[in-house]
Amino acid sequence: MKTDTIAAIATAMTNSGIGIVRMSGDETFEIIQKIYKGKKEKYFQEEKGYTIHYGYIVDGEETIDEVLVMIMRGPHSFTGENTVEINCHGGVYVMKRILETVIKYGARPAEPGEFTKRAFLNGRMDLSQAEAVIDVIHSKNEYALKSSVSQLKGTVHQKIKKIREEILYHTAFIETALDDPEHISVDGYGGELKVVVDKLLEELKALLISSDNGRIIKEGIKTVIVGKPNAGKSSLLNVLVGEDRAIVTDIEGTTRDVLEESIQLQGISLNIMDTAGIRNTEDIVEKIGVDKAKEHANEADLIIYVVDASRNLDENDMEIIQMIQDKKAVILLNKSDLATVVSKDMLKSYIEKPMIEISAKEESGIKELEQTLKDMFFHGDISFNDEVYITNIRHKAAIQDAYDSLEKVNMSIENNMPEDFYSIDLLDAYESLGSITGETIGEDLVNEIFSKFCMGK
Ligand code: GDP
Repeated sequence: MKTDTIAAIATAMTNSGIGIVRMSGDETFEIIQKIYKGKKEKYFQEEKGYTIHYGYIVDGEETIDEVLVMIMRGPHSFTGENTVEINCHGGVYVMKRILETVIKYGARPAEPGEFTKRAFLNGRMDLSQAEAVIDVIHSKNEYALKSSVSQLKGTVHQKIKKIREEILYHTAFIETALDDPEHISVDGYGGELKVVVDKLLEELKALLISSDNGRIIKEGIKTVIVGKPNAGKSSLLNVLVGEDRAIVTDIEGTTRDVLEESIQLQGISLNIMDTAGIRNTEDIVEKIGVDKAKEHANEADLIIYVVDASRNLDENDMEIIQMIQDKKAVILLNKSDLATVVSKDMLKSYIEKPMIEISAKEESGIKELEQTLKDMFFHGDISFNDEVYITNIRHKAAIQDAYDSLEKVNMSIENNMPEDFYSIDLLDAYESLGSITGETIGEDLVNEIFSKFCMGK
C-alpha cells in the first residue's frame, strides 16, 4: 500500500542554532531529489541509508538554505518508511520556508504525533513504547526519564506480552477441550487454572502497586508544607528552591485553581501546592480546621510539618499532629541552630513519623531530608532493570480491568461454573491487556493518543 509523504518541523519553533525538517513516506526520496542541490549530482533513491549529504535546498532557481540532509531507508528508520531529515539553520522563518518547499513538491503537513503513529502502525514499536516516546520528551526529572526510557526499550511491552500469552494458552486449551470432549478432558482443570490465575493476579497487583510510584515518578510528589506561624515554612521553601539545588517551574496542578511549584531534588520532584490557603502561610493554622486546608492535606502524597524547635509546642502544633496522624509525613525540627526546647523524643510521644533536625537558616539537614524522601517513596533507590513501573494512567486502568476479569474467573471456578465461563473472562482480561500494547484498540483511540503528541514527533 502506498503511503502519503508527511513533513513537519521537528525542532522547536523558536530561533536556534539548528532546525530539523523531517519527511517520511513513499515519495520522500523523490521530493528531496527535486529540491536538493549539491556539488555532485545525487540519486537519493540509490544512496545508502544513514548517510548525510551536504548541499542546498532550492526551489527552482531560488536557494533557500545551506543544509545537511540525512537519509534513512525503510524499514530501518524510526517510522519504518523512507525518511529524510533536513538539518537547516534554526530560524523560524527559514524552517517554515523549507517546510513549505517540501510541501510544494508533494509532501503534506504531518499531524501531531504522526511519525510515531506510523512507527506504531508499521510495527516498529508497540503502543506502550510509542507512548513512552512522548513521556521521554515530557520527563521532568531523572526518575521519570529512566522509567520512560525503560518503557521505550520495551519493559512494559514484554511484561504484558508474557501475561497475555499465558492467558491465551489457557483460553485456547479450554476452547479446544470443549470442542473435542472425547479426547481432551477438563476434569479437575478448574483447580489447575486457579493456580495460574492466582499467580497472574499477583503479577497484575504488583503492576498496580507500581503505578502509585509511577505517578509520583512521572508527576512528582504532591507536597504540602504545614506548621504554625514563624516555624520557618517560607524559609524552608526558599532553601529548597534556592540557588543551584533546584529549578523552579510553574506547572499546572490537577485542579484548575491550584498551581504547584515544582522543585527537583536529586531526581525526584516535589510539587509544592501553592494555593491561597497554603501560600498565605500566616493563615495556615487558622485554616487548619477549615475543610479546604484539610482537603489539600488529604490529597497530598506528603506533608512536611515544620516545627519550631526553639519554642514550646502549642495547641496549633497539637492540631497539626492530629491532622497528619494517618498521612505520609515527615517532621522537620527547625531552628536547630538555636537553643531548642522540642526534641525528637518529646514529639515521639505524640506521633511516629520520620523526624529530622534542620536549620533553614544555616541550610543544614537538607541532604538528610532528601534521603528520607527517597526512602519513603522509593524504598531507597529505584532499579529500572528488573522492575516494571506503570506510569501511564491508561495502562493502569487496563491492568485494573484485566485484574477484575481474572477475579471473575476465580469466582467461576469457586462456584463450579461451566468451563466456558472461564474462557469468557479470560478473554476479557486478554483484551484489556491488549489495549496497552495496542493490539486490541480501535482506530479512534489510537488517533486520540497520538493527537496529544508534539508536532514533528
Ligand atoms: P513561616 O511563617 O513558617 O513561613 O516562617 P518564616 O520562614 O517566615 O520564618 C519565621 C522567622 O524564623 C524568620 O525571621 C526566619 O528568619 C526565622 N527562621 C526560619 N528558619 C530558621 C532557622 O533555621 N534558624 C533560625 N535561627 N531562624 C529561622
